[in-house]
Amino acid sequence: MGTSDLLQKTRNIGIMAHIDAGKTTTTERVLFYSGVVHRMGEVHDGNTVMDWMQQERERGITITSAAITCYWRDHQITIIDTPGHVDFTIEVERSLRVLDGAVAIFDSVGGVEPQSETVWRQADKYHVPRIAYVNKMDRVGADFYNVLEMMQKKLGTVPVAMQIPMGKEEGFVGIIDLVRMKAYTYDLETLGLKVIENEIPAEYRDEAEHYREELLEKVSDFDDELMHQVLEEGRADEELLKRAIRAGVLRSEISPVFCGSSFKNKGVQQLADAIVDYLPSPLERGSVSGMDPQNGEEVERKPDDSEPFAALVFKVATDPHVGRLAFARAYSGELPVKGAVLNPRLGRKERVMRILRMHSSRRRPEEKLHTGQILALVGLKETKTGDTICDERHPIAFEAMVFPEPVIYRAIEPRSTKDEAKLAEALERLSDEDPTCSVRVDQETGQRLLGGMGELHLDILADRLDREFNAPAHVGKPQVSYRESIAREKTETLELSQVIGGRRHYAFVTLALSPAEHSGDVIFHAEDSVTKDIPQEFVQAVRQGVEESCSGGVLSGFPLIGIRAELRKIGFSEEDSTEMGFKIASATAFRQACEKAGPVLLEPVMDIEVVAPEEYVGTVINDLNGRRGKVTSISSRKDAQVVEGESPLAEMFGYATALRSLTQGRASYSMQFGRYEVMPPNVQDTVLRNIGRIA
Ligand code: GDP
Ligand code: MG
Repeated sequence: MGTSDLLQKTRNIGIMAHIDAGKTTTTERVLFYSGVVHRMGEVHDGNTVMDWMQQERERGITITSAAITCYWRDHQITIIDTPGHVDFTIEVERSLRVLDGAVAIFDSVGGVEPQSETVWRQADKYHVPRIAYVNKMDRVGADFYNVLEMMQKKLGTVPVAMQIPMGKEEGFVGIIDLVRMKAYTYDLETLGLKVIENEIPAEYRDEAEHYREELLEKVSDFDDELMHQVLEEGRADEELLKRAIRAGVLRSEISPVFCGSSFKNKGVQQLADAIVDYLPSPLERGSVSGMDPQNGEEVERKPDDSEPFAALVFKVATDPHVGRLAFARAYSGELPVKGAVLNPRLGRKERVMRILRMHSSRRRPEEKLHTGQILALVGLKETKTGDTICDERHPIAFEAMVFPEPVIYRAIEPRSTKDEAKLAEALERLSDEDPTCSVRVDQETGQRLLGGMGELHLDILADRLDREFNAPAHVGKPQVSYRESIAREKTETLELSQVIGGRRHYAFVTLALSPAEHSGDVIFHAEDSVTKDIPQEFVQAVRQGVEESCSGGVLSGFPLIGIRAELRKIGFSEEDSTEMGFKIASATAFRQACEKAGPVLLEPVMDIEVVAPEEYVGTVINDLNGRRGKVTSISSRKDAQVVEGESPLAEMFGYATALRSLTQGRASYSMQFGRYEVMPPNVQDTVLRNIGRIA
């Protein structure tokens, strides 16, 4: 295949869903059908399929890979993993960066749940075209039409039914395809592999006509020829109709909605067809832009093998057999095995020793990483998640990924001293793979602290240490990762003239500190008029002095944020000034200013959404108020109320269990980091007392 042919027949997609909506089951089915169809052509009898499924099961379908490829109707579909839990939103974001289109799966009973909404909005942010799949049509309470309505109301999208279900709950037998106006059922002997086409049964005809009308109404705008045909001739050719739907999806103006029951092997093949028919190829995703690291200018790359190579590494993982894998999406050019790439962040080249494509149960070596492809690279040692790799003669850096700081941590120590080294290595690998996991050592207690995005995240990390790395550890109770800031402005001047290590160091600095945005890092600023006659290395040393002081505040030892530090004056002497002197002077001035600027503790405040039946809403609100929480809105959804609010993380430990017992398990919730906020003085005192900072 030539480049553009391959590109046209490539789909890089993500499957996004609320936990339990059926992402894993659906992905497995897609891999299963594609594997069978790809290997065996078109004709199958039940036994062969069963055998194949059995074999595949035994070898273990691996769908935990960051990117896994399968083939459908002569197209190459790469499915990029997007975890469903909010603790892992950052994982979702980084997948969204590299995929071209997505399938949103909804549970036919629960519909658009809070987490699906969060992920949907993230996908909006990255302009990812989407189709939707309403799964679990066999469940009691399944309601396809309700999900359509929820999509419109909650997601503000234009859902377009592409199918309607025949029967529901136990009686769900198949679907009516509104493009072809045919009915489809599934031969369950062959695990749904054989799809049976029929005329639409009489009892569904009116409903099918109604939704077909709606489909035409919603999509004919996207194609003049179709519009003409519909208006003038009162009909719509399948090809034109598909073209119009595709155009609508690519412009993110409509969301076609499909349905099925993955578990009962119904509807998945049509979903795979839809991925090919309606989601974009890398060509349609178009050019991407980045920055030339040498001059900061914007540069563009076209999806073409003949362009200079540029790719984004979006995930690093350790494979038990081949070692460190860097999953990369190529945006332009091609990279051969043994090729060297520039990593502009490191300012250095690294060599790619092997290129692998991951399938469900095997990995296949590839000669090249082509434009538009997502493959695993072996050999990159220091390239991290979020890094660009590119042709050294044509450097480019794509926008970096921003990873939030951990809001929660647990002390961690090896079960026995002989496991010490193993644990240290395992922790290093964990934080290499997962940029939102951090490991640091408390300077005072010497304790090792494992930080993450939430309780579940830390539980999973601890579990991985045990199972994957065979480095079992004792983990302490979850604790909040506080921050420190200042309440007032303060300017501090420091003149240093001191003999250290046998020579004199002279430096003069005036730093002005002021409170800035609470959730932002410390910003260092120096006007050109202040520094114009000063050697640049001295100014840099002042900056370093400030930056290094930010790792622990004067009040609590927690990292400092939300401060603006401006260099107002700087003076040096030709004979005695040194970088070291400026660094010490700046760090000292900074700390002294902090002490006098009313240092305060900040705590992470979480955004919370609880969905509960009406009769429990009062209880849920009372409970949140008792957690120093605040309710910001209450709205109703089909048979439930949605309570939105916020509460300090410190008060939310064990909330899952508490909510379950308050509501007899009838409520669900989602929670994510909102911002840092100043704590009430009495709570701050308790925290400082607990960590031994005050008596
Ligand atoms: P994920 O959390 O989104 O990956 O969801 P899973 O695929 O793990 O499915 C969650 C649960 O729902 C599992 O017990 C599945 O067997 C079940 N499930 C998945 N698809 C269907 C379906 O179509 N119908 C029914 N009744 N259950 C399903
Ligand atoms: Mg799953």
